[in-house]
Amino acid sequence: MKDIIEGFLKFQREAFPKHAELFKDLATQQNPRALFISCSDSCLVPELVTQREPGDLFVIRNAGNIVPSYSPEPGGVSASVEYAVAALRVSDIVICGHSDCGAMTAIAACKCMDHMPAVGCAMRIPLALSTKHATTRTSTIMSSLWCART
Ligand SMILES: [Zn+2]
Repeated sequence: MKDIIEGFLKFQREAFPKHAELFKDLATQQNPRALFISCSDSCLVPELVTQREPGDLFVIRNAGNIVPSYSPEPGGVSASVEYAVAALRVSDIVICGHSDCGAMTAIAACKCMDHMPAVGCAMRIPLALSTKHATTRTSTIMSSLWCART
């Protein structure tokens, strides 16, 4: 935890002043060009791999970059997609997978998720689809990048 706190303090001291005007503008409005959906895996950092600045991407992250079927029932991913499209009017939606994704590997291998019931529940739909479309692994981050124009 100490390194995270030190990193935050370094951000406040060094990075924030360099982008002070940008953060000032972002405090009152945002206008991201793309919705970027990616895995929560620590190896994948959307702004880093796309070389974007703060405010460029509206990001959703979860285990396996899973987007459930749209439903009016409460759900963080559905609400975030709806907000990005309806309120922010993003022009692009990117779903970015990555190599050796634990979630996708579990789906492809039909691994038992009894010890992680919330993860297992989130993967029910992808598990059903995996019999048709899933591969056991993806090759590289960028080769597993799928884009859709809205
Ligand atoms: Zn992953």
